[in-house]
Amino acid sequence: MIYFDNSATTKPLAEVAELVSNDLQSDDLWGNPGSLHELGTSAYKAYINAKEDIASCLFVREQELVFTSCATESANTAIVGFLRRNKRNGRTIISTKTEHRATLSVLERLSNEGYTVKYINVDRNGKPDLNELSNAIDGDTSLMCFTHVNNETGAILPLNEICEIRNQKNRNTALYVDFVQSAGKLKLNLKELNVDLASFSAHKFHGLKGCGFLYVKNGVKIDPYILGGGQQNGFRSGTEAVYLYRSTALALKRSQEDIDEHYDQVSKINDYLRNELSKRKATILSPEDALPYVLNVSFDGFESETMLHCLERYNIYVSTISACSSKTKKISYVLEAMGVDRKLATNAVRLSFSRFNTMEEAKIFIEKIDEIYELFALR
Ligand code: PLP
Repeated sequence: MIYFDNSATTKPLAEVAELVSNDLQSDDLWGNPGSLHELGTSAYKAYINAKEDIASCLFVREQELVFTSCATESANTAIVGFLRRNKRNGRTIISTKTEHRATLSVLERLSNEGYTVKYINVDRNGKPDLNELSNAIDGDTSLMCFTHVNNETGAILPLNEICEIRNQKNRNTALYVDFVQSAGKLKLNLKELNVDLASFSAHKFHGLKGCGFLYVKNGVKIDPYILGGGQQNGFRSGTEAVYLYRSTALALKRSQEDIDEHYDQVSKINDYLRNELSKRKATILSPEDALPYVLNVSFDGFESETMLHCLERYNIYVSTISACSSKTKKISYVLEAMGVDRKLATNAVRLSFSRFNTMEEAKIFIEKIDEIYELFALR
């Protein structure tokens, strides 16, 4: 099997599966971290240790992290929680049309509730127009929501420039960033990046589904989204799932080891594929300076889904981003916002890599693409 769909989800590490299996059988970890007896205390310690491990990977403090069930929950909590708590900060939110649905759906609801949402245009490389951003921020701008690495194209956000503009225009404007596709692939120093709220998802870096976390910078106040027993310092109620948190901490720690070597290896795979595909009937849609872990490519003569199923016959897994229905052909809203030609967008396929992909797999991929074109030419 060749798995080039790592932006959708990643295979959990064997070590993670082993840890969870051992934890579930351990007599020290199944207690309720809120219980006052020894069983509770050992579970509580394990929960705090997991937070500390994650915090040290991201250069933040353990108290600044909240575990959630996924990045979607983190996004909902961050955006709604911040606005609810900081009503006097303003009623305007700034974002782009290329955000993940986890953000866009929340913004749509807030807009229906009376918030003003300003969407900054992005260019052909998926970068927000910084002049437009600068003009858009005013005294009423409470929050900005952006994605560090776009899940469809790998486009990287100019985060430092955005922070600078924010600092010049309105220091009170909070910055929420979705780090789902960059965590485990880029070294992230959240303190230096100067963001206020950030979301993460374990299943995107070889951890398990069902666990995400949210960073809330020290001093930033949010209302909790999930109310109940007041766990996690009241930020997110519900009994802490210690085994999930420990698995997330292990997966993140492992992703940091040899992170530069893995980046180089994936860059070589990406370069090779860009080069070989460009010689064939394909157009690269990802920007030149995109994160190499994502490669969006349009195959001439093949609608996205057709190519996906052709590749599937060779046990090669990729992703489509345009949804086809019998009547209307919907193209990816991200590519549409970037101004990509409709025909190219209709044929777009996303290849997304992990540190476990090899150059050998990339070569087989190209061989199979050639075979697919030959087979169809014969028809
Ligand atoms: N943000 C981005 C950029 C994503 O790619 C995804 C998942 O595809 C999410 C958020 C949502 O993540 P989760 O599956 O943890 O809710």
